[in-house]
Amino acid sequence: MSNIEGKVVVITGASSGLGEETARHFSAQGAAVALGARRADRIQLLAEEINKNGGRAIAVTTDVAQREQVQRLVAAAVEQFSRVDVVLNNAGVMPLSPLERLNVEEWDQMIDVNLKGVLYGIAAALPYMKQQKSGHIINVSSVAGHKLFSGSAVYSATKFGVRALSEGLRQEMKPYNIRTTIISPGAVKTELLEHISEKDIQEANQDYVGQVGVTPDAFARLIAFAISQPEEVDINEILFRPTAQE
Ligand code: NDP
Repeated sequence: MSNIEGKVVVITGASSGLGEETARHFSAQGAAVALGARRADRIQLLAEEINKNGGRAIAVTTDVAQREQVQRLVAAAVEQFSRVDVVLNNAGVMPLSPLERLNVEEWDQMIDVNLKGVLYGIAAALPYMKQQKSGHIINVSSVAGHKLFSGSAVYSATKFGVRALSEGLRQEMKPYNIRTTIISPGAVKTELLEHISEKDIQEANQDYVGQVGVTPDAFARLIAFAISQPEEVDINEILFRPTAQE
């Protein structure tokens, strides 16, 4: 029996890409999953698919920029499955652009979703996990949380920030037996580039990810690796790139 079986896993950003794949991967290994994202139709369909295949899933429409909606997602997981073992703070947006183009609304959106959304996930999970004296919070950063590239100033600021707050969380959580993992993916083929409004930046990134990007199962396997360690082992940080990536 893997120690994923029977775990209750909350996944934000479960309507596409990395979150969707991870939900399928975990439920196939016997985890119960609570799916959060704004596109209700997509998470509803995914939950139906998982339940039809003998898994256990609920879908809760969630905008992670709204603290009470993230709380509702985690509370729904606890109500349905009696506990919460893992929160995967995965929801994110990446509307890359040079600062000088002043896409200030996109800056706000990245801060709200990538940074505040992760903090709200932590805030929603901690009361339950502290009481359980167990839990695992996994926050999604990026290679862009380790280095800057063209147009990534604000996105990188949020992803560097995710790493900082995750490490702070790790240091504080020792008395409660709560594990913290930061995962920083390289290029993975998902819908992430579709929302870049600057066409030159979008095309350059689509070309690059099209050439070197790997599929989301690489991410799901690494998350599974972190979760399936014995409880006394905390994989603090995972950084991975496609072998062909710079
Ligand atoms: P996708 O665009 O495929 O998925 C992003 C997910 O985030 C969607 O499910 C989307 O759901 C959700 N999301 C966006 N805004 C919100 C919001 N306000 N509230 C709730 N959910 C939201 O991209 P990926 O799967 O690639 O991205 C997942 C994470 O991985 C992100 O944090 C991204 O930064 C990170 N990442 C991805 C890399 C890659 O190469 N793909 C590389 C490094 C990091 P909906 O729109 O339905 O709300």
